Amino acid sequence: MRAACSFCGVPADLGTAPAAGRARLDLDAAVCAACMTLDPARPGAALRAAARLLGADEDDPHLREALLDEDGALDGLLYGDPGDPLSSGYRAPQRAPWGHVSRQTRAALGRARDRAQGRRAAEAGGGPAGESPPPSGPPACLVCGVGASTSWRPVTTAALARGRGTLTGHLCAGCAAVLEAVGAVGPTLVERAYSESRGQRWTEATRVPGLTAWAATDAPPGEPWAWVAPRREGPAPGSVEAQVADLRAQVAALAEGAAR
Ligand SMILES: [Zn+2]
Ligand SMILES: [Zn+2]
Repeated sequence: MRAACSFCGVPADLGTAPAAGRARLDLDAAVCAACMTLDPARPGAALRAAARLLGADEDDPHLREALLDEDGALDGLLYGDPGDPLSSGYRAPQRAPWGHVSRQTRAALGRARDRAQGRRAAEAGGGPAGESPPPSGPPACLVCGVGASTSWRPVTTAALARGRGTLTGHLCAGCAAVLEAVGAVGPTLVERAYSESRGQRWTEATRVPGLTAWAATDAPPGEPWAWVAPRREGPAPGSVEAQVADLRAQVAALAEGAAR
């Protein structure tokens, strides 16, 4: 009889393997040939499955840790999860492996992969000694996107990424110092942090058209402001793009003024 692989959900033979990561033998568990290589009887099979889905090293300790820290990264990951009454039992096999994994779970997996990358980079001496990735939440400074810092200041804000709701995360040491100076999380913090990171003096009149905080991008954690194109590669003065950028900046300034 064809049952569903309890990992990826494709047709598999019943009773061929113990359930994922469980010490007890579960005669109802089916595992396809591909997922047998996840070593279902060895603890951590679900974490190895998550790594495989990400195309990552299945025995990377940083990724394991990050997956366990990331809320929702393992939700509904296994097609027949013995720990989840909703997905265990009698689901019919599906054609595409892992087709059941939700967008939310895939997004959480991506965040765990990014965080693991940050940890690896910090450990490999990617930055000066004493630097580490944020202790929780998004894997980089919400403002500048740097993945490792000597200290992290927790913030909860809806002002950095419109449309993404309230975010709880951290600011790196540099952006936390700018926050001290400007007093509030918002566009001024972002513009000033950016200007100062470029060695430019910031004034009340400083405007950086189209500048977004890391939290509003889908950029991976890494170097600060890596997603911002250098100004000299911006639109030529007088071009339509430059006029649009200018209008955008004026609208943003008006909106900021109105919010005060
Ligand atoms: Zn499978
Ligand atoms: Zn920062």
